[in-house]
Amino acid sequence: IGGTKMNLILFGAPGAGKGTQAAEIVKKYKLTHISTGEMFRNEIANKTAMGELANSYISKGHLVPDEVTVELVKERLALEDCKNGFILDGFPRTLSQAKCLDQICLDLNIKIDYVIDIEVNQDELISRLSGRRVCKNCGTSYHLTFNKPLKEGVCDKCGADLYTRKDDSIDSVKVRLQT
Ligand code: AMP
Repeated sequence: IGGTKMNLILFGAPGAGKGTQAAEIVKKYKLTHISTGEMFRNEIANKTAMGELANSYISKGHLVPDEVTVELVKERLALEDCKNGFILDGFPRTLSQAKCLDQICLDLNIKIDYVIDIEVNQDELISRLSGRRVCKNCGTSYHLTFNKPLKEGVCDKCGADLYTRKDDSIDSVKVRLQT
């Protein structure tokens, strides 16, 4: 199983568990994890121009414009570490992004092997998102009741502080689920 080359897409609403499942899959199959949300959060943390632009959408629960997101993914998929297989987590999220992905695949001679859709009902999504806490350093997700860290507010894996994502506020969550 380890080292099986395949290219996957994970679909699912915010809070469905894409990031959590992707982390398990990449460990098992040694794939490259590409999370557009995580890439944007890194840009925001590094205070880049793209981060500033992305934050103006993300903090309100809106999607970052397709042109920006598609360009980011296009550059990422061309990197060497995608050659042995990757998992896309959070992309594509619109029909236009899906069509652009088709073109990127043609250009880079990539084939998507599987698309996994994770379905979770809305009440469950809201309760997962409102209790989510994320590690500042390694991005591991926890939950205040369903998946507590051993020590409150501290990541089990790397010991860094946990934080609440700005877009996990109840107002943003409603917009995100609608989007
Ligand atoms: P996620 O970590 O996947 O929940 O993404 C966090 C936020 O980043 C989303 O709510 C969007 O604002 C933005 N984002 C992530 N992926 C995309 C995408 N494919 N298209 C547009 N915006 C995205």
